[in-house]
Amino acid sequence: PTTNAVLEEAVRKIKVTRTAQSRINEIDFNNLVFGKKYADHMLVADFDGKEWSNAEILPFQHISVSPSNAAWHYGQAIFEGIKAYKDQDGNPMIFRPYDNYARFNTSAERMGMPDVPEWLFIGGMEMLIDLDRNWVPANEGCSLYLRPFMIAADEFIGVRPSDTYKFVIINSPSGPYFNKPIKLLVQDKYIRAFPGGVGYAKAAGNYGGAMYPTMQARKQGFDQILWVDGAEHKYLQECGTMNVFAIIGNKAITPDLTQGTILAGVTRASVMDVLTDMGLTVEERPVSIDEVVAAWKDGSLREIFGTGTASSVAYVEELQYKEHQIRLDTTRYAVGAELLERLDAIRTGKAADVRNWNYKVSK
Ligand code: PMP
Repeated sequence: PTTNAVLEEAVRKIKVTRTAQSRINEIDFNNLVFGKKYADHMLVADFDGKEWSNAEILPFQHISVSPSNAAWHYGQAIFEGIKAYKDQDGNPMIFRPYDNYARFNTSAERMGMPDVPEWLFIGGMEMLIDLDRNWVPANEGCSLYLRPFMIAADEFIGVRPSDTYKFVIINSPSGPYFNKPIKLLVQDKYIRAFPGGVGYAKAAGNYGGAMYPTMQARKQGFDQILWVDGAEHKYLQECGTMNVFAIIGNKAITPDLTQGTILAGVTRASVMDVLTDMGLTVEERPVSIDEVVAAWKDGSLREIFGTGTASSVAYVEELQYKEHQIRLDTTRYAVGAELLERLDAIRTGKAADVRNWNYKVSK
């Protein structure tokens, strides 16, 4: 369906209750902190076991669910993370929302949850951003972080998939990405995901389960764990909320998704295209830590970086694996720097959007 048909359906089905008093004057757009402030409005809808209804855009507020819901007890909860930017004329654009929409429904299926229709996810998001367009920052490097999520809502404490659900979108203005290099730890004690598991889903439990191992790594001075597979403890998966790339010679290497243990990052997919545009050969395949160590030893390892919506491109300055401490001079990350510049230019309409990644919010 065309964008207009989706939006028309959303406008027909979603009730809008505007806030009486905007809070936008409380926001210092020059000092935005990630995830602390929320835009005036949010979207909420209910799944009654058969269909989505009660869709409403309303002032940001607490939501009420039964304390017995299966999201809180058994982790039947999924989410997405998307960013909206302003183009050169000040109009909001959402970066690749259809990719997140597809991934959301993939996560929903894996967690035994219902699909969300296009009018609700895409159309609802567009209506919400249209209404809160002043919350999309225009300053360099800033964006509106969009957080759609779904939680189980049944008033039932038994272990089975809920019949009813809530779908919600909240939006948070977020600050510029400071290119602070990160330190990663490869360890074989804690495993994030394994074949047959839920690693490829953006399921709440994946993040809860990573918190304790990450806390332990932080105590040792690292920012994130670079997760490896659970069978051989050597094949790279991803780090924090980012996919991982290594630049070795003229190749960009990133772990493939075939095991179902890695989240298929939208930034990852974009980065693979942009690196190809930049003349690098992109290889999506199993990447072992031994290969990375060997490339570091023979001098062909140029850069390692993480990619994700929240952080964009995060340079890795240190990677610890057993007795190997790989240190990289991130001030010389030519590939990462050009990549970041090209991505920013596309997302803010400075460069041609040849692959149609930007979804323009209608006026
Ligand atoms: N891996 C994980 C575990 C993540 O949570 C994220 C953030 N969504 C990513 C990778 C990067 O995905 P994206 O580029 O779509 O933000």
